[in-house]
This record gives sequence, structure tokens and C-alpha cells, in this order.
Amino acid sequence: MQSSTLLALSAEGTLPKVDYAIFADTGWEPASVYRHLDRLEQEVAKPAGIPILRVSSGNIRNDALDPNHRFASMPLHILTQDGKPGMTRRQCTGEYKVKPIKKKIRELLGYPYPARVPKDVFVEQWIGISTDEFHRAKDADVKYMRNRHPLIVDLGWSRGDCIRYLATLGLADTPKSSCLGCPFHGNAQWRHIRDTSPEEWRDVVAFDAAIRKGNARANATGNQLLGQAFLHRSRVPLDEAPIDHVTAAERAADPGGPADADELEHGMADGCSPWACRAEADTPTRDGFGLAC
Ligand code: SF4
Repeated sequence: MQSSTLLALSAEGTLPKVDYAIFADTGWEPASVYRHLDRLEQEVAKPAGIPILRVSSGNIRNDALDPNHRFASMPLHILTQDGKPGMTRRQCTGEYKVKPIKKKIRELLGYPYPARVPKDVFVEQWIGISTDEFHRAKDADVKYMRNRHPLIVDLGWSRGDCIRYLATLGLADTPKSSCLGCPFHGNAQWRHIRDTSPEEWRDVVAFDAAIRKGNARANATGNQLLGQAFLHRSRVPLDEAPIDHVTAAERAADPGGPADADELEHGMADGCSPWACRAEADTPTRDGFGLAC
């Protein structure tokens, strides 16, 4: 939502024109996100002469199920052997989003990894964070990127402002970007998949069943999960999970304390951002489940 807003504001000249827009593709976004991206490219970016660069480190779904592929752990909901709830580490955003973006930026600067980027060479990277999430705006962790947050600094726009603006462009249906089977989905997102896209629902239900004992690489290397993994936070199989309402047991099972009902219902408000990682700050994680081989 916020990234689409930034791109459109740049394309129409309200903000200066950016040189590139980058989309990090985990390979497992909903079809609606890819359709939206195609539309943005054709109707907004291309006419303004802004190339959209699609970068990728692979397909997160396929990698999780491939015994020959190292897998960067998704934040799966876990039940340990003694029935305690937990979560696996979230490495996927770094691997499938941050890494390919940094790789592309280095290439654009002319210093692909492992070349050293000179001190005075850097990109200005615009990040779509709105005022309601201002505390997630951070400086870059490398010198060749300098972060800028135009929605906060230049415009003072909230998420609602972005939604209203996109509606004026006929983009009111801009979807949240996140993997189809992201364990951070709230019930509303799971219901949306179930009720609007039977094929994608079958896909996530099948994936949920396939990772019950952990990812394929972990199992192939004798690093089995000591417990069971689930996509839904109720820690029952997705096609049986209580996605029509938040249960008291779900709130109580949250390892960080009683979870916020809004988050249980709606999940991450703005999808999965590589630069404003909500989950890393908010979600207590546990190691040693053998998923991060
Ligand atoms: S959407 Fe979820 S599963 Fe996908 S990269 Fe982000 S945190 Fe990981």
C-alpha cells in the first residue's frame, strides 16, 4: 500500500522522480499481488519512465519442501513435544527480501558483492512507512544505502491517506504484499484466501500439511523438528483451524503474552516489509527447533 503510494507520487511528480523501483519477489505472493504489480508497472511506472526491477533469491515455498535446498526459516507456529507453544526464527525476510534488494543495489552502484563500495558512493532508498508506523522507520545498516521516509518526513501521510490517494487513481484494491502462506496472517487473510481463491487455499493447506514435521532439508539432514509446525497460530491444521473467530486458547497460547485481538484478526497491518520488520521486534522466538538448517 505505502510502497505503491510512493511510486505513484513519484511518477506523477508530487515527489521527485526515482531512478528505479525494486520489488523483492519471494515467489509465493498471491496472484492478486502479481496482478497489481503488473498494473502498476504498465499504468504508473512505465509512462513515467521508472523501471520496476523484480529481484529474487528463489521460491520460498519450493525451498521449504526441497530436501536439497538450504532453507531460511519461516516464522512457523510450533507445538513442542511436551505441548508447549513457540515459534521458529524468522530468517525468510532477510533471505528472500533484504538480500536480493541489497545485491541489486550494489549492482546498480557498480560494486557487486564482494567488491568494496567506496565511502562516498550510496543510494538514497525511499521506504514506504506511513506516520502510524513511524517508530519502524530506521537508518540503513550499510553505508551504501541511506534511507529516506518521504511519507513521514515530506508529507506526514498516514495509512488512511495512502488508501484515499490510491483510490483516486483507481487503485483502491491494492493488496498487501506477503507470502501466500505467511504464518503472520491474521484470520481475515486466511478467510480471504479460503473464500475468494480455492486454488490458493488448496495450496496453503497442502503446504501446511507438508511442513508439519519441519522443512524438508532439516528432515533430510537428520535435524528433525522436535514437535509439530503449523501455519495458523492456533497450532492446528489450517483446514481445521478456527479462522472464523479468534479463540481464547489462541490468545492464551501466545508465547509473548495475551496477543492483541486486532493482530490475531488482521495479521501484519502492512504486509511483509523488508525494512520495517514488525515481527522481529514484536515476536519472541525460540531456537533449537531444527528448522533453520
Ligand atoms: S511474508 Fe511471511 S513468510 Fe514471507 S518473507 Fe515475509 S515473514 Fe517470511
